[in-house]
Amino acid sequence: MKSWCPLLFLFLAACGNSDKTFVSIGTGSQTGVYYPAGNAIKKIVEAAPGHDLNISVAASGGSVENINNVLQKSVTFGVAQADRQFQAHHGLSNWEGDPAEDLRFVFSLHPEVVTLVAAVDSGIASIGDLKGKRVNLGSPGSGHRGNAEAILKTAGISLDELRAESMSAGECAQKLQDGFLDAYFYTVGHPAGAITEATTGRRKVRFVPIEGMDSLIASAPYYTRTFVPVEKYEQAVQEGKVPSIGMLTTVVTHADTPEETVYALVKALFENLDDLRAQHPALGGLTAEGMLLGGQAPLHPGALKYYLEAGLIAPPPDAP
Ligand code: GLU
Repeated sequence: MKSWCPLLFLFLAACGNSDKTFVSIGTGSQTGVYYPAGNAIKKIVEAAPGHDLNISVAASGGSVENINNVLQKSVTFGVAQADRQFQAHHGLSNWEGDPAEDLRFVFSLHPEVVTLVAAVDSGIASIGDLKGKRVNLGSPGSGHRGNAEAILKTAGISLDELRAESMSAGECAQKLQDGFLDAYFYTVGHPAGAITEATTGRRKVRFVPIEGMDSLIASAPYYTRTFVPVEKYEQAVQEGKVPSIGMLTTVVTHADTPEETVYALVKALFENLDDLRAQHPALGGLTAEGMLLGGQAPLHPGALKYYLEAGLIAPPPDAP
């Protein structure tokens, strides 16, 4: 009898949950913003009545991994930088020659900033100073690796002019404190736990301005000029705003995700935006209108259904 118990338990657990629709969200490092944002979505949606969604939130390497997992259907939803969604949809960068035809836009979240963090004692005060230094560009699954590469290229620095690393975002603050890194790129919303960790360490850090990017911004419609809001980090050694470039965070899914699943998630979330804003300081500025921006891939029909119903999108003039 004893050996049957686990099987019996699994059987009963499966039966007990047969009324649930299980969905997953691919996010990012636990000390970024995607992961807490995914958990905020889970909390709000699961607490809302009128649907059967049960959400699991998966930590991940970031945008590129999430988009690929959505395309392979190993996660239902993925959080991804708007520039990465653009590239996947148009078959560029990591998706060169292979446009992601099944990728669908659902909504956007907070704005992200390409953030270059450097140890003060490394002497890095501009992008040019990165030459010869040990710099983390990001893991291959991250969104920011592509941003770091594009910025270095625009600044005329080749990857072999620095000691480029491919660590995951969650490791960087500690590696910098331990002297294994001089600087790292992280495209992230603010405030982010990983950046707080960096600014509160014994080895002091500064945010390095990302300037001279006019040609990059002109060639890539998804970048905007923005800045690192230093005031969100109480122990930062700088003051004021540090110029950089950025983009929106978006949530994507597969074209085959059932309409009712996407509709239920979007409805539960948009009807509780006050709650969503209160879950994390980086989400505090979200508005329903702003969350409809940033789509490059076609809008998923389940999301469109809710946006039409809520009056957030006007119906086409010839609609009945
Ligand atoms: N933008 C990062 C990436 O796509 C993730 C940022 C976060 O986790 O908040 O890799």
